[in-house]
Amino acid sequence: MSFQRVAIIGLGLLGGSIGLAVAQHLPEVTTTGYDRYPATRKRAAERGLVNRVCETAADAVREADLVIFCVPPGAMGEAASEIADALPPGALVSDVGSSKRAITKALNEALPSHTVIPAHPVAGTENSGPDAGFATLFHNRWCIITPPEPTNLLLLSQLVEFWEALGANVEMMDAEHHDLVLAVTSHLPHLIAYTIVGTASDLEEVTRSEVIKYSAGGFRDFTRIAASDPTMWRDVFLSNKDAVLEMLQRFTEDMTALQRAIRVGDGQALFDHFARTRAIRRSIIEEGQDDARPDFGREDHGTT
Ligand code: NAP
Repeated sequence: MSFQRVAIIGLGLLGGSIGLAVAQHLPEVTTTGYDRYPATRKRAAERGLVNRVCETAADAVREADLVIFCVPPGAMGEAASEIADALPPGALVSDVGSSKRAITKALNEALPSHTVIPAHPVAGTENSGPDAGFATLFHNRWCIITPPEPTNLLLLSQLVEFWEALGANVEMMDAEHHDLVLAVTSHLPHLIAYTIVGTASDLEEVTRSEVIKYSAGGFRDFTRIAASDPTMWRDVFLSNKDAVLEMLQRFTEDMTALQRAIRVGDGQALFDHFARTRAIRRSIIEEGQDDARPDFGREDHGTT
């Protein structure tokens, strides 16, 4: 492994999982970590999320050759500014943020003399904080790297090597395309889940206890996604505004078409649509990105 000292800023689900995965797959690599609250740092040390939990972000990065920002999208710029004076000149800066254009800009502005190569492991759960991470989070999950143009090819290949060592499959994309793809595969589904769970809880004719009692009818699966971290998801929508609004417009048009098919009794249109979506589900299972079991094989861990 080319990187020998990895600093992780933000020791929640993603940061903790990276630390644990490095310990499992790259035991020769030393990890340091920092999180802004003492209680989180204490818990991170108790769980051994990194080799050394530091009291300041500057201490965590002082000897690093790779620093990975694992804070919410809206906190990336501020967290990067904190380490600007302490980061060694040759160290690579990366992150795990769920949107890429806005975060890349924030990291470059805060650390103008460093190489920034952003990344987004498409792996997660609805849980957050220092107790949420686990070493196998990235196994057989995609990690999308969005290298800037031009990029440092040596550092890029080392970052690819790092993510592959943690069990991920790496794909390259430009940041703009990433934001569009993730708007439809991740951000819009979260917005729909947040909406439907909110709608159900606001109904006057159906009681909240009925919603909970009969949730196995489909609602339950939305509640898992709608339980995701409010800070992170607020930041995702604000930092990927254009792509999300574009996908939301397309979704609204398609929803209106289905609404019309129901109103005019066009069963064939509904059947054709549902048959097409069922085929997409089958492809996801065939590609090993989900489990065909009714509980999705998620007795302990979900994925988003
Ligand atoms: P998380 O569990 O909430 O962890 C983030 C941690 O960063 C929290 O402990 C938070 O502290 C801390 N933090 C916030 N601002 C900070 C700062 N300025 N300096 C140091 N620490 C700071 O969130 P996560 O799920 O790991 O998400 C982290 C990143 O991963 C986000 O950018 C997200 O977009 C990305 N991501 C998430 C998922 C997912 O499914 N969750 C998947 C892929 C990528 P407080 O809790 O005290 O605010």
